[in-house]
Parts: sequence; C-alpha cells; structure tokens
Amino acid sequence: MPDYSLAHETDWTGWRRAARAFVLAGVEPADLTWTVGGLEASRLPDAEGGFTLSGSLVALAARAFQARDPERFGLLYSLIWRAHRGTLPLTGEDDPDMRIARRWALAARADAHRMRTHLRFVPVTFRGQGHFLGWYEPGHFVLEPNARLMARRDPALGFTLVTPDGTAHRDATGLRFGSGLKNPEDDETLVAWWEAHQDTLLATAHDDGGLPEAEDLPEAPRPPDRPNLGPVVLPARPSNAMRTLTRDASGCVRCPLHGPATQTVFGEGPSGARAMFIGEQAGDQEDTIGRPFVGPAGQLLDEAMEQAGIDRRQIYITNAVKHFKFALRGRRRIHVSPSPEEIGICRFWLDAERAALNPAVLVLLGGSAGRAVLGRPVAVTRERGRPFNLPDGGLAFLTVHPSFLLRQPDEASRAREYAAFVRDLIAVRTLINSASE
Ligand code: SF4
Repeated sequence: MPDYSLAHETDWTGWRRAARAFVLAGVEPADLTWTVGGLEASRLPDAEGGFTLSGSLVALAARAFQARDPERFGLLYSLIWRAHRGTLPLTGEDDPDMRIARRWALAARADAHRMRTHLRFVPVTFRGQGHFLGWYEPGHFVLEPNARLMARRDPALGFTLVTPDGTAHRDATGLRFGSGLKNPEDDETLVAWWEAHQDTLLATAHDDGGLPEAEDLPEAPRPPDRPNLGPVVLPARPSNAMRTLTRDASGCVRCPLHGPATQTVFGEGPSGARAMFIGEQAGDQEDTIGRPFVGPAGQLLDEAMEQAGIDRRQIYITNAVKHFKFALRGRRRIHVSPSPEEIGICRFWLDAERAALNPAVLVLLGGSAGRAVLGRPVAVTRERGRPFNLPDGGLAFLTVHPSFLLRQPDEASRAREYAAFVRDLIAVRTLINSASE
C-alpha cells in the first residue's frame, strides 16, 4: 500500500503533483495513505501522460485543502480519481464527498475572513523600514492564502503574520513562509520573539507558490447594467494644503478620542480627486498602520470599487472621525461607534478636507458619514442609492459602509448586499462622470 508524505500541512503543490502521479499510475484511493512531515522524501510512481480537471473542481480542492482535517488529503484524492474516471457527477450536488469538500471550503473561507478581521498589528522596524507584526491562531490553514491576498492588495505593506502553524513574512524582496509561534502572552513577548528569530526565520523561509489567495466573498452576481466606464486621469499626489492639514491633524486633541488611539488617521488621495469617500472612523488596523480603509472593510471596498469601475487611486478617502474609538475586551480592541458629539467635533477636519479638495461628489459610507455631512440622523437602508443636493452646492450620495457587508449573517445575504453595494458604486461612478463634465 503506497504511503505518501507531504512536506507540510499546506503542501498543496506537493499534493497536486503526487495526486496526478498516483491517478496516472492507477492507485486506488483506498490503497493510498497520506501523511505529513515524514523524515524522508516519498517516491512518486513513474507515470506518463496527463489529464485535465474542471477549474471549479481544482478551485474547490484548493479551498478545501485549507481545512484543518487530516482526512482531506484522501477525500480530495478520491474526488480527483473519480473525476478522472468519469464517475463523479458533473454537478456533484448530491455526492456525499463533494458535500464534505464544500463544507471544508466554506469553513476555511470563513476562517480566512475571521483572521483578517481579528488580526491586530504591532508596528515594528525591519531593516530600517516600518513593518507590521501580528499574531493570530486560525482554526484552519489560512495563513498562506491570507498573506498572499494582503500582499497583492497592498504592495507597499511590509508585514509579518505569526501563527502557531507558521509565519508569513513580507518585505521588499517578496513573501516567504517559515515556522510559527504558539500563543505569545502579550505584544511584548511577540515582538521579543520576532526580534530574536527574524534572521533564522528568513534564512529557513520558503515560498513554494503553495495555496492560492483567500477570497472575501462567494462569487457575487455581477450587476447586469455595468456601464462601459472610461478612465479618469488625475494627478496622483496630495496638494500642499492637504499635506499641511494632515500634519496639523496629527496633533489634534479636540476631543478625548485621541487618548487611547495610536495616531490620527487622516484622509488620503490625489489633489484633483473629484470624489471624496467618507467612512465612519479609523478601525483597528487603520489605527496601527495610520492609513484609512486598509483593514477588512477597506479591502472589501477596494474589491467593490474595482468591480464598479472606480479606481481608488483617483478618489480621496477619509473618515468622519479621525481617531479609533474602541473598548478593550481581553487583548482585542472592539470597535465602538462615535457619538454624535464626537462626529460634530471632528467635523472641523472633514470640513477642512472638503475645502482643500473641493470634490464634486461626496460618497457617504454609512450612518456616521451621513450624519457628519447632512447634519442629521440618516436611515441608510431607506435613503441609500440616490444623490442629495447639499446647501453649499455640492452633491452627496449615501450608501452602506462596507463593514455592513461583513456583518451579514450568511453567505447568501452577504452576496446579495455586496451586489447592491456594487450597484450603488456604479451609480456613484456615473455621478462622478456627469459632475466632472
Ligand atoms: S477624533 Fe477628531 S476631533 Fe477628536 S481628537 Fe481625533 S482628530 Fe481630533
């Protein structure tokens, strides 16, 4: 009975190579044993030729491979074996093994999302550069796909994600993976471990192009009325006035929110931006990194904007409140909504940003942004999706905050709300174009 040992739990590349060779050699699933981390490299059977599988089956297998279940190697091999033999139903709806694989894939995807939501960074220095260090214990093997997603979404971000399963390190030279750390007692322990181990980690780290990126959401239906939207060319740098405002706001003590927060998170965007997107307040990751909309909600906003044909590099993005308001729960900082008074006090900076930028359209993401600009409570679900004329002659458009999508209780409602959000953003894009003509 063949016994094949994978290099590590996330050795997707090794598993694929071995599964292909064993299928071609005619090794029945029941005759094959999969293990992890054997002392010697396993030999593969000599097998010639090749075969193709549907992309959806490979994608499902890649996602299910991230589940923390030792049975996954064998069950996924069985699916590949049956697909090759033509005995796997095309849709696989009623197939018990397909149902298990789908359950694993969904669990891994939800866990990947949870990790990105709960990850908390500590700012450190790596080779003279700002760097972000975070620890998290995921339920499944989602470190690699999450690290790949984060690296793609923010090419300038240097980070190290530490988990008990392993570490992902990303700097200017690329993304690598090494050994991990079990529960550090506090941030100081984590930083001390990082400082003591970074050279060893980097010397032994690998990147074998393993598990593919994580995904945020199931494939959301693409709105049918997506218009053909042309590019808007704008200067890419903030104006001098905005740079001065950013510097001045960094020392703001107008309200008590500056006390527990790490730093002011001011808006960012090019000087000629025709649209200003306004959220509620800086979140945990924004507070640590110092930039708006870089956490899970920001990543989802990027994705939806891309789908709607809006280039984030061409808009200005900010928050109604520039400091992170939170409550401590153990080691976690839990978001607390700013009060109407705090929104009113911080409006000083929002007004200053508007005056410096003079955008044609304000995009209000959620109730706090609506209150900050319209000066009254707003019922987002009732009032969303249409433009408002502002007393000063500007235009505003209200929609939900992307964190609303993250709070949806199930996949179906998330997909539905995501599609509605993209539709709103397409309307925003049309509004920007018409206001710029
Ligand atoms: S929340 Fe706004 S007003 Fe309050 S301290 Fe921060 S920047 Fe100043």
